[in-house]
Amino acid sequence: MRIEPTVDTSPQVADEVKKTTCYMCACRCGINVHLRDGKIRYIEGNRDHPVNKGVLCAKGSAGIMQHYSPARLQSPLKRVGPRGSGEFEPISWDEALQMATDWLAPIRKTDPKKLAFFTGRDQSQALTGWWAQQFGTPNFAAHGGFCSVNMAAGGIYTIGGAFWEFGAPDWDLTELFVLFGVAEDHDSNPIKIGLGKLKTRGKRVVSVNPVQTGYAAISDDWYGVTPGTDGLLILSLIRELMRSGNIDVDYLRRYTNAPWLVIRNPGAADDGLFLRDDAGVPQIIDNKTGKQAAHNSKGVKAALQGALELDNGAKAVPAFMLMAEAYLDDAYDPETVCDMVGISADRIRQLAADLAEAAFAKEVTINQPWTDWKGERHETMIGRPVSMHAMRGISAHSNGFQTCRALHVLQLILGSVEVPGGFRFKPPYPKPAHLHPKPAGRPDQVAAGQPMAGAPLGYVLGPEDLIVGADGTPQRIDKAYSWDAPMSAHGLMHMVISNAVAGDPYSVDVLFMYMANMAWNSSMNTRGVMEMLTEKDPETGDYKIPKIIYSDAYQSEMVAYADLILPDTTYLERHDAISLLDRPICEADAVADAIRWPVLEPDRDVRGFQSVLLDLGARLGLPGMVKEDGSPAYADYGDYIINHERKPGIGPLAGFRGENGKGAGRGSPNPNQLDAYVANGSFWHTDIPAEARYYKMANMAYQEFAVDMGFYDSPQPYDFQIYSEVLQKFRLAAEGHGDHQPPAHLRDRMKRCFTPLPSWYPPFEGSAIDEESFPLHALTQRPMAMYHSWGSQNPWLRQIHGYNPMFISRKLADETGVNDGDWIWVTSHHGKIRVPVAVMEGVNERTIWTWNAIGKRKGAWQLDENAPEAKKGFLLNHLIHELLPAQDDGMRWANSDPITGQAAWFDLRVRIERAADNEPAEVAPQFDTLKAPPGLKRPTATLRYGLEWTKTGQTSGKGDQ
Ligand code: SF4
Repeated sequence: MRIEPTVDTSPQVADEVKKTTCYMCACRCGINVHLRDGKIRYIEGNRDHPVNKGVLCAKGSAGIMQHYSPARLQSPLKRVGPRGSGEFEPISWDEALQMATDWLAPIRKTDPKKLAFFTGRDQSQALTGWWAQQFGTPNFAAHGGFCSVNMAAGGIYTIGGAFWEFGAPDWDLTELFVLFGVAEDHDSNPIKIGLGKLKTRGKRVVSVNPVQTGYAAISDDWYGVTPGTDGLLILSLIRELMRSGNIDVDYLRRYTNAPWLVIRNPGAADDGLFLRDDAGVPQIIDNKTGKQAAHNSKGVKAALQGALELDNGAKAVPAFMLMAEAYLDDAYDPETVCDMVGISADRIRQLAADLAEAAFAKEVTINQPWTDWKGERHETMIGRPVSMHAMRGISAHSNGFQTCRALHVLQLILGSVEVPGGFRFKPPYPKPAHLHPKPAGRPDQVAAGQPMAGAPLGYVLGPEDLIVGADGTPQRIDKAYSWDAPMSAHGLMHMVISNAVAGDPYSVDVLFMYMANMAWNSSMNTRGVMEMLTEKDPETGDYKIPKIIYSDAYQSEMVAYADLILPDTTYLERHDAISLLDRPICEADAVADAIRWPVLEPDRDVRGFQSVLLDLGARLGLPGMVKEDGSPAYADYGDYIINHERKPGIGPLAGFRGENGKGAGRGSPNPNQLDAYVANGSFWHTDIPAEARYYKMANMAYQEFAVDMGFYDSPQPYDFQIYSEVLQKFRLAAEGHGDHQPPAHLRDRMKRCFTPLPSWYPPFEGSAIDEESFPLHALTQRPMAMYHSWGSQNPWLRQIHGYNPMFISRKLADETGVNDGDWIWVTSHHGKIRVPVAVMEGVNERTIWTWNAIGKRKGAWQLDENAPEAKKGFLLNHLIHELLPAQDDGMRWANSDPITGQAAWFDLRVRIERAADNEPAEVAPQFDTLKAPPGLKRPTATLRYGLEWTKTGQTSGKGDQ
C-alpha cells in the first residue's frame, strides 16, 4: 500500500516579498516581508542589508503581531469626557486637522513658543525638528534627554561622536572589547553579529555593568560595578595606565589637544583657557625649539611637557600636564576607590593591565598608505586593538556626562579611537561640537508669525550661546540650554509637563507629542504626571495645559490624556527616511541610508504622522511647506523625502540623487529616487575609499570624501578634545567672569561639576538622601526581546516577558529573609511599590533591578484587565521623582545631570522589606482601568495567527486576524 505524504515539504510560502526596514527597535535592520493573500506570512532578515546582513531578532520577526495589534488606533479621536477618562468620539481627518490648525494658528501668530512639540523614539527628527523651526518654537526635542544624551553629547564634545549610530568597534581586528553599562536593547543585531565574530576569533569580551545579563552573560570577565561609580572606575584605570606608562604618547600628540597650551592664571578671566594667537589658533610648544607655535603648524612636533611664561606673569602648560596632575592623584588609586566601585583593587589593576596588553603588545598594522591633514604621508595604518561600547547604564546618572567623557579619554590615552582594531566612526561622524549648528531660541530669535533662524537643538560653545533672556532666565519650556542644563543637546523631555503645569518658566497653550508614553513608562513620577495632565486652574476651571494633541499608532496609556488623537500607521504602512541628516545607519567603511515604504495599505482611517505633520504645516502656511500660491508644497512624506532640499543638492536621502539617479551624497532631487531605493532592497550604500577608512578626523582622503558626500563644504580636520575649553568657559562664568554668569544658587555646583578634564562626583540623589535609610541602588534594563513600550503588548513577545520581577542578589535575599517568588515593598524618598521578587546570581550586591516598561496600566494596549503585565508587571518610575529631595534652603534641583540635563534614572536609591503574608499577590500601586477608545477590536482569546494557511484552517475557513 502506498502511503501518501501528510507533510507538505515545499509549501508555497508567499505570493510576494517586499523589502523594507524594521522599526521594532532602533537598529533599523533590513527586512523581507513575505506576503500571502494580502497578509504578512512572515518576516526574515535581508541578507544584503549593511546593518544586519540577514540576521533577525525576536522583535523583528514579531513585527507581524505589531502590525496586526488589536491596540491599533482606528481613526482620529476627539475627547468628549474629562481628560483621563478615555472617553472619545471618532472624527474625520478633516475635522481633526481643522481642530489642530485652529489651536495652533493663533499661537504662531502671537507667541510661537506657546507650542511645546516633543517626540519619543521618533526616527524622523530631521523633519520634526525642521517643522518646529518653521513653526517658530524653540520648544522641541525628542527622547534623547531622558535616554542617553550624556553619551551622545559627551562623545560629540570629546571625540566628535559616540557609540552605536556614531561608530562601532573594528570587529575584525579588535583584541579586547569592553562594554560599559550596556544591556541588550540598544544596537541589538549589529552587536550580536560583532560578538559572534569576536567569539569565533577567540577574542576577549569584558562587561562592566551592575547586572550580568545579556551581553554581560557571555563576557569573559564581568565587573559588577556599583551604579553611578563607573566614572570613578574609569579614572582609576586611567591613573594605572598613566602611572605604568602605558599610554600612546605619539597618538596624544598628533590627534588630541593634550599638547595644546592651557593658561594658568588662578582667579583671572583667562585661567584655564587655551593660549591662542591673534587669529585664535591654539598654541603648543615646539618640542625641538621649545618655542610657542600654532598647533596646526606643519612639520612641528608638539611637546607634552614644559611651560611658557606669559607677558602678564601667567604661565601656559600643555593640557597633558594638567591630565597628569589630575589623574595621578591618590583619589583615583584603586585602593582608594575599590569599596565605592564595588570591585577589588586587584581586579581594577588587572583590567588596566589587560587594556595595556591588548593595546600595546598586540599592535595592528595595515599596509595602507595615507596622508594626514598636515600633508604628512604615512606608509601604514597602525592601531591599538582595544574597542569599547557604552550606553545608558553609564550615562543616566547626574554624573553621566563626565563619566562618558572619561571613557573617551580612556580610549584616547590608549590611542584606540579611529584606528585599526579600535573604535571607528561611522559617517557622517566624526563631527565635533564646533561643526554642529548652535541651538536657536533666544528671545531675539523667536518672533510672532516667523520661523526661527536656526534649529531648536544644537551644540553650545560657551555661555554666550545659551538660550536665556537678558536676565539669564530660561527661554525653553524644558529649560534646556539654560544655566540649569547648559550643554543639553537633546532637551529635557522629562521636565516639559511639570514645568508647563507649574508655569515655570511659562505656561504653554498646546502640548503636541508623538509616540511618547508620558502618562506611563516615559515619565518619572508617573502618578504625578497623570495628575498634572488633568490638573485645572482653580480660578478658570481650565486645564493647566489647555490643549494636548497626541499621535501614536497604539492605545498607549498616554492616549487617555489627550484632547485630540491623530492616529499613526504601523511602520509597514508608511514612508520613512533613515537619513544621514538624522540618525544614520552607516558603517565604518561605508555610507548608507534607507527607507520604509507602505508594503501594506492601512485598513483603518489612519495616516502616517510625518505626512500629517506636513499637511498641518501647509494648513498653517509654514515656510517651506507651502508653495507661493499657498498650496501644499508636498503631497505627503514620500514626496517630501524626494523633493525636500535642506540646502541645494542635499536632501533626506543621499542615494540615487540627480536626474539620472547616479548622484551620491549631493545632487538634485530625483523623481524616481524612492523607486530606486525599493528596487535596491530599500537601502543605499557606497564604500569609503581604502585610504580614507581610518583616522577620519585627520585623514585628508576622508575629509575630501566627506566634502563630496555633502557632510561638509570644505575639509574640517580637528583634534580630539580631552581638555574641554567649553566646560572651562562655563566654570569661569560660575567664578564670576564674563558678561554671562549663572544665578548664585548654581555657581558652586557648576564649579564642582564643569571640570575641563573629566572628573567624578557622587550621584546627586545619593548625596541628597540618608544613605542608611536607602542603602540600595535600583535600576532598570531593557530586555533583548523588547524595545519600545509597545513590545510588551505583542502576543509573541509577551511569551518571553509576560511580567517583570525585581531581581535581587542571593546575599541580599539571605540578609532580608526574602525568597524567590516572594513579594516585597520597595521604598524610595518619593514612593513605594509592591513587586514580585526573583533571586539571582550575577548582580552587584547593593543593587536591585528589573526590566523596564513591561508593566502596563489595566485596560491599556487592549490587554485583559487581569493580564500579568498589569498584575505582576510594574514600573520603577513610581519611585523616581523629576526633582531631588529639598536642600536645606528648600530648593529642589532637577533629577538630572547638571551639564546636559539628562534624566538621572539610575541614581535611584531604595530600601526593601518583605510584604506581609496576607497581602495580595498583585503589584501596587494600581490605577483605574483605562477605557478603550471607540473602534478597537477585542483580541481573540486564543491567537492562532496563520491558521488559514494550514490544512486545518483551509478546511474550516478560519483565521484569527
Ligand atoms: S535588531 Fe531591531 S531593527 Fe533589527 S530586526 Fe531586531 S528589532 Fe528589528
